[in-house]
Amino acid sequence: MVRHHTPSLSFEVFPPNPAVGNEKIIQALREMQDIAPHYISVTASNNKFNIEETTVRLADFIYNDLKIPTIAHLPAVYLTKEMVSDTLQALDKVGVHRILALRGDIFPDVAPKDDFKYATDLIEYIKEEAPHFDIIGACYPEGHPDSPDRVSDIRNLKKKVDAGCSSLVTQLFFDNDRFYDFQERCILAGIEVPIHAGIMPILNRNQALRLLKTCENIKLPRKFRAILDKYEHDPESLKSAGLAYAIDQIVDLVTQDVAGVHLYTMNNAATAHHIYQATHTFFS
Ligand code: FAD
Repeated sequence: MVRHHTPSLSFEVFPPNPAVGNEKIIQALREMQDIAPHYISVTASNNKFNIEETTVRLADFIYNDLKIPTIAHLPAVYLTKEMVSDTLQALDKVGVHRILALRGDIFPDVAPKDDFKYATDLIEYIKEEAPHFDIIGACYPEGHPDSPDRVSDIRNLKKKVDAGCSSLVTQLFFDNDRFYDFQERCILAGIEVPIHAGIMPILNRNQALRLLKTCENIKLPRKFRAILDKYEHDPESLKSAGLAYAIDQIVDLVTQDVAGVHLYTMNNAATAHHIYQATHTFFS
């Protein structure tokens, strides 16, 4: 499939713990504003039940104060229909009408609620309750860790998109070839919505180690492992190499006509600026 278009550049941020306060993230977002990202998405905690105080409040600021299109994440496996309706109303009130509809991770020692077993259930509910919301879905180029095989994963993704996703955002990945294989599998399965590629620049070894623990399904290419090994005790070089690696991934993705790049900023405006400086001609 040949596509010729300008890809989008978007960012993900996360709300800080309410005890810490929003000062730092607000400053970071103000610094990201002049990049004019296509949208900023705001993550949500799966089990703290404080989405209005955290995600909705930050989404309100991005959308209404900074005037940047905003997506609110909504993981629902531990929510009831009433709780989801309350969140939809809170988002309605601040004018944010785009949701990344998620199941959320299931914790082995906490039983899920009955209302939303999969993201698809949430999408169907939102489509019925509040059809004016635009819904985005999550996807996993290297397969979701709960999936027994890639065939069922793609079949379930097709059901999710058919339930009403206008686009998809991927889990982070470091091997672009795995993303291209996934895109092909999606097309073969009749999944034709735009897929935005999730890219996370690795800036330090602890961040890399945390990722390896939480994203066991992600393959680390030899080139990437070599960076982690060589600069284990040289944080400045590791940071430079991590940024260069992310830029290299983005150059390859836009060359292959990716629909969009979604940067996992980790709330770091300097990272967003560094990546933007190196790649902005592709996105304007
Ligand atoms: P689903 O799409 O429901 O899929 C989960 C599993 O169930 C998959 O294995 C799938 O194949 C299977 N499945 C789906 N439908 C069916 C069906 N009908 N029958 C049988 N099996 C099925 N988590 C948070 O807590 N907060 C966040 O803000 C957040 N943001 C994220 C952003 C992105 C871009 C991504 C990729 C992930 C994010 N996550 C977040 C993590 C996400 O919540 C977890 O990965 C979670 O385990 C799966 O959520 P999902 O919506 O992709 O699930």
